[in-house]
Amino acid sequence: MKTAHRGVPPRYVIAEVRHLLVKSGCPLCHAEAEALERFLFWFFHESYGEPEVVLQYVQSRGFCAEHLKLVAERGPQWQVSAMFSWIIEDLLAALRTSLAAVAEKRPSRIRAWRKGATRVLQPTAGCLFCDVIERTQESFIPMLLEALEYDETLRARFVEVGGCCVPHALRVARSARWEQQRGLLLVLQVLQAELEATKHDLDEFFRKADYRYAHEPRGTEQHAWRRALVQFGYRSSGTPPTTVPKVSEGLE
Ligand SMILES: [Zn+2]
Ligand SMILES: [Zn+2]
Repeated sequence: MKTAHRGVPPRYVIAEVRHLLVKSGCPLCHAEAEALERFLFWFFHESYGEPEVVLQYVQSRGFCAEHLKLVAERGPQWQVSAMFSWIIEDLLAALRTSLAAVAEKRPSRIRAWRKGATRVLQPTAGCLFCDVIERTQESFIPMLLEALEYDETLRARFVEVGGCCVPHALRVARSARWEQQRGLLLVLQVLQAELEATKHDLDEFFRKADYRYAHEPRGTEQHAWRRALVQFGYRSSGTPPTTVPKVSEGLE
């Protein structure tokens, strides 16, 4: 059985986590945005035409809605044309098979017939960009937890940047191992503090909406709804992850 790692994390772990804690906002959102940018650069320059890459986006029948938007906004005409030419070619072949099966077969068991006739149309692979995100989480979450377990400077910085967004904190919670309890505890404590601050501001917003308090000056509570959206994973389209503004900063 593997023994729990105790001690100072390797320097590359510290360096990576420190880098992602330079900016405020969720470090996992930053890690994903950077990984996606790196991937996009090579994807549209070269790898969009490599056989195994083509195979994946052909088998996945394109991209998930979020990443289709990314392809639409960032993809050059030539590359997007080539990609959809291959995706459509394969889907048309599947449609021919499916249509022939639908037209010819008159089986008694309708469920089996429907499954057989339409099965060839269904995606057999996941979205290529979602896989990049998943791989980034798999490699970065253990590093983050390891750093937060042992490095006091990074623990303090993690609190300063506002910790992880809700989806990523929950993802960290699913991935944490027994020997990472201290790191996980910090992630959840920061999440609690951030959510409590937003909830307080939301309550303030509704209180000031009451005519009895309407004369009070408006403050950060006016931006609480935007903070909540960002905390729950909202990213403005085509841009790096929006950082959660601190209570003192407000939002433009
Ligand atoms: Zn995040
Ligand atoms: Zn996707």
